[in-house]
Amino acid sequence: MFNSIASKGAIAVLGLVSMAGGVAAGVAPHADAAVSPSAASCTVVTIHKGSTGALVKTLQSRLGGLGADGVFGNQTLAKVKAFQKSHHLAADGVVGPKTWAALGGFPCSNGGSNTTVVTKQVASGIDFLSVRTGPGTGYARVAKLSPGTKVTGIINGGWMKITSGGYAGKYVAASYLIDVPKVGPKPPTSNVHGWIATTGGITATVRSGPGFNYGVLGHKASGAAVSGTQVNADWVKIAGGYINRGEIETTSSSLTRVNAQIPVSQLCAVNGAYNSPNSFAPGYTVNTTRYINCSAGRALDSLQAAYKAKFGHYANIDLAYRDWAEQQYWYDKLGPAQANKPGSSNHGMGLAVDFQEWHGHTTEFDWGGVGSNWLRANGGKYGFTQPYAYGTTGESYHFNFTG
Ligand SMILES: [Zn+2]
Repeated sequence: MFNSIASKGAIAVLGLVSMAGGVAAGVAPHADAAVSPSAASCTVVTIHKGSTGALVKTLQSRLGGLGADGVFGNQTLAKVKAFQKSHHLAADGVVGPKTWAALGGFPCSNGGSNTTVVTKQVASGIDFLSVRTGPGTGYARVAKLSPGTKVTGIINGGWMKITSGGYAGKYVAASYLIDVPKVGPKPPTSNVHGWIATTGGITATVRSGPGFNYGVLGHKASGAAVSGTQVNADWVKIAGGYINRGEIETTSSSLTRVNAQIPVSQLCAVNGAYNSPNSFAPGYTVNTTRYINCSAGRALDSLQAAYKAKFGHYANIDLAYRDWAEQQYWYDKLGPAQANKPGSSNHGMGLAVDFQEWHGHTTEFDWGGVGSNWLRANGGKYGFTQPYAYGTTGESYHFNFTG
């Protein structure tokens, strides 16, 4: 059915239309011409007194009352000015985009005088675009251009005359050319200088690439100085590997000056859907907004998505970031055996999460609970690790974000 040139053009049009509607045939159409060029494939040419040629003829016939001789003289000028005046346009006698629009649109199909060189690329969704010896499907095909191929030339009457490269002087149908997509600038990289933010002897993970799926190369000690280049929102390239941005404190080498004193404006809110349903001291309810280091928070979102896929619900969270007053409350209440001194907990850096304690409601995150077990086995895939040996007096529900 693609044998005749005429039907090929028509089929190509149908093919493009049907693809837009999502019902493309199995074979993508070959592309040629036989369609009206869109406005995007035609550059408006401004004409004025002294211009000659096919465009002037079109102008004269559209204005009416003039012999269409193709010469823009005084009579044509007077007609143009009168037309502009009656259409509330600047009556300057120059026929540019606005006047062409008022005259029914610039006649791309007979322009013939466009000289603007443009670079376009062959649209996707077709097998190839024919390069022909002249501006029409009756001319011999000399080559096929693949989708994405860039071509530079001048578009007139629905065809581009190629002006550079190996096919200079040959033609392609302009209706299958699209603008070359703009490629944005590379995201800025920034240097990061700081110190490992995890406290209490907890180390930060150094990985072989910028993601939790990359292997562990080693660990950086709490407080160790690090310098590197941020490669995206969450990863920093350092000498010998990559480290999660959440592990790096940049404001002070003295973590005790930062711990539990981070303004919530520098943290990220934890998705409230993770909140434990319980109320507990000091003042938590299901509606209390929890905060967390932003990189840790994004990792937590990934962890929660996996947890929900496995269990059908999120891993409930009691708390994440703890400020000084809250840490003091627990230290006063429980003493040093069970609560960190204010300013020394990973909660105070926004780098720890307590999943739901029992509270008389659930054993999900107790030792041996399905939640605690899953987190021990899978938390590392999201940068969360448990510092305690199984079954010890440590908290079965506490996980540090270690990157
Ligand atoms: Zn904890």
